[in-house]
Amino acid sequence: MNNPFLFDGPGVISFSGGRTSGYMLWRTLQAHGGTLPDDVTVLFANTGKEMPETLDFVEACSVNWDVPIVWIENRPRDAERKKSHAVVTHATASRNGEPFAALIAEKSYLPNPVARICTAELKVRPMQRYLKSIGYTEWTTFIGMRADEPRRVARLSNQDYGSHETKEAPLAMVGVDKGAVGRFWKEQSFDLALPNMDGVTMHGNCDLCFLKGGNQKLALIREKPERALWWIEQEKGKHMEHREQPIGGGGWFRKDAPSYQAMYDMAMGHGELFPFEDTLNDCGCTD
Ligand code: SF4
Repeated sequence: MNNPFLFDGPGVISFSGGRTSGYMLWRTLQAHGGTLPDDVTVLFANTGKEMPETLDFVEACSVNWDVPIVWIENRPRDAERKKSHAVVTHATASRNGEPFAALIAEKSYLPNPVARICTAELKVRPMQRYLKSIGYTEWTTFIGMRADEPRRVARLSNQDYGSHETKEAPLAMVGVDKGAVGRFWKEQSFDLALPNMDGVTMHGNCDLCFLKGGNQKLALIREKPERALWWIEQEKGKHMEHREQPIGGGGWFRKDAPSYQAMYDMAMGHGELFPFEDTLNDCGCTD
């Protein structure tokens, strides 16, 4: 069997900023003798709502392993109505949800479990645009999915990404599970500074992502109440205020759960826990 971490032609490592994709990057570096080929790019797409520790971790991987990581952010359509993106750095990256809020303003609706536009518009498509802008026409993308995530991996292989892109999950191909990822990071001189809870990073990716479960979001709000404010503003339609013709309130990120304002009030008042588990685990942004 060929080494699944070896690229054969133009390639991309999609780095979510989590421990799993960090480990995938390390394995890929090892497979290539410590240095990636010139036609392999490591990409991290920042929504502006990533945890600060995630941004520091992406930078730490780049510095400690001496591997360039390109940071990109989605931008609103340009003067010619073309979709755009920006290349940023750890120092200049958005930290107050700016790319995410701009997307909501442009679309005039909130992402939700049925229309998960944020993953596609803030991560997948800006990455594709960036790659095309540097001359890629066809490439293979490595995604950080593990062997203990068979449903996500199956979906990956069932999707048609067009003739220009093939997606692969090399960690899953060699049987790496969350335990192996955890053991790897315990042995490193640096790590993601977010709790590892039985292989799951509760804080990971957008801080209060609507796909996280209610109890998870309550715990995160209790830990740092100001986390809720951006999400509350989006639901109150603050993102619409700049429009010449306001189109009304913003709605909710999830219709099957309380609003972020209600969750904030609940968290501050030490209210009831959610009686059911409503985590939607198949977010495409994680690890
Ligand atoms: S982490 Fe959640 S909120 Fe953030 S881009 Fe992904 S799906 Fe959207």
